Amino acid sequence: MPQQRHILLVSYPVQGHINPSLQFAKRLLRMGIQVTFATSVFALGRMTKSSGSIPKGLSFATFSDGYDNGFQPKGVGHSEHMSGMEKHGSNALKNVINTSANQGCPVTCLVCTFLLPCPWATTVARECHIPSALLWIQPATVMDIFYDYFHGYEDDVKNNSNDPTWSIQFPGLPSMKAKDLPSFILPSSDAIYGSVLSAFKRQFETLDEEEKPKVLLNTFDALEPQALKAIESYNLIAIGPLTPSAFLDGKDPSETSFSGDLFQKSEDYKEWFNSRPAASVVYVSFGSLLRLPKKQMEEIASGLLKSGRPFLWVIRAKEDGEEEKEEDRLSCMEELEEKGMIVPWCSQIEVLRHPSLGCFLTHCGWNSTLESLVCGVPVIAFPHWVDQGTNAKLIEDVWETGVKVVPNEDGTVDSDEINRCIETVMDDEEKGIELRRNAMKWKELAREATQEGGSSDKNIKAYVEEAGKGY
Ligand code: UDP
Repeated sequence: MPQQRHILLVSYPVQGHINPSLQFAKRLLRMGIQVTFATSVFALGRMTKSSGSIPKGLSFATFSDGYDNGFQPKGVGHSEHMSGMEKHGSNALKNVINTSANQGCPVTCLVCTFLLPCPWATTVARECHIPSALLWIQPATVMDIFYDYFHGYEDDVKNNSNDPTWSIQFPGLPSMKAKDLPSFILPSSDAIYGSVLSAFKRQFETLDEEEKPKVLLNTFDALEPQALKAIESYNLIAIGPLTPSAFLDGKDPSETSFSGDLFQKSEDYKEWFNSRPAASVVYVSFGSLLRLPKKQMEEIASGLLKSGRPFLWVIRAKEDGEEEKEEDRLSCMEELEEKGMIVPWCSQIEVLRHPSLGCFLTHCGWNSTLESLVCGVPVIAFPHWVDQGTNAKLIEDVWETGVKVVPNEDGTVDSDEINRCIETVMDDEEKGIELRRNAMKWKELAREATQEGGSSDKNIKAYVEEAGKGY
């Protein structure tokens, strides 16, 4: 009798990690594999409150990150949050592993996303003699950049990236300027940057300790062919896109049910959205973490109004502990509410695949970027930090599915620039037509990769076959 496969999937408790992890969990469940999904107490509480019915067979484990009742007051990545999570997380995972073994369904493999402050879940797997893999939730290109940075390129980046004329060529990747690199490798006075970069360093050191470590990536072979081959000493396995509409062509309702949202979804926009003309609406979202300064919000608002096009804009409500202030209210709110819809959260994947959608003004988080490709939607790329600059570079120069905003000298993107980009993407001029054509091309390639016999489908099956074997 072959051993029943049981994968323990550990997700860092933020939306950008939870979404691909959950899609991966659902994919494994459909293959008859037992899955235990582990994340923070707070995140799971939110997910089960706002996401719909839990897929059959999915088990959960939770750990405290020190903030079981609310959002981390100082944001992601600060030291109390990180050390609490390591301690409680390690104990919780050991508990799952021991209990499962006692119940006759032992964990055969542990898969984790990049966990701050260091790869504690991998340490647990090693201590318990269970094979593990990293689920990399950013593009392969970003994995390569971090790898190269820690393997010989650090000095060049540290010493030269402040020079605006400088560029760097990593093996197998397009030439990049500082603004195209993941923000954490750029010199910064912000303490969080230092601690997150150290965590990345430990992550890569841990991978280097193994022979051909397995890294599962939320991307697909056709999207990043060179980047996926650029690290010879790692086994990079592309299993994406891990987005709801990719697998099974969107025909399975379980894809969008239990979507893992940490925020309550609004339904208010649906009637309005359904009644907009085809391909007319500009969708605006900056993901689950970013908060833009008031000045920038005013410019976006005014740019949207200048475009004269209908828009759906996600502006997240303040969280517990964050104060709602009258001066935060946008000056043209009445006009905005007349011309478009503002919601605190929506089902982004449903919005992106809706016929009324015209284009997506995005911060270029990796999930949002993949979702735009999977849905064939052209984008206006407005990156801020983390991997977003790299993703925007790929969108504009490599996949050619969008245009990147050009900020002013003070870093603000003004309303005319927002309007110019909307016009470029939405117009029936040559550029807009080309962007939309490219977006449809990537949609088809993403579908091919995930359908039966496609590259990601084969990669997942081969990985799972291997994962059940144990050491
Ligand atoms: N998202 C959503 N509804 C919204 C805004 C965002 O469902 O109103 C989802 C989006 O589909 C994506 C995730 O939140 O899967 C955001 O992840 P991403 O990597 O794009 O950005 P992050 O939040 O990590 O900055």
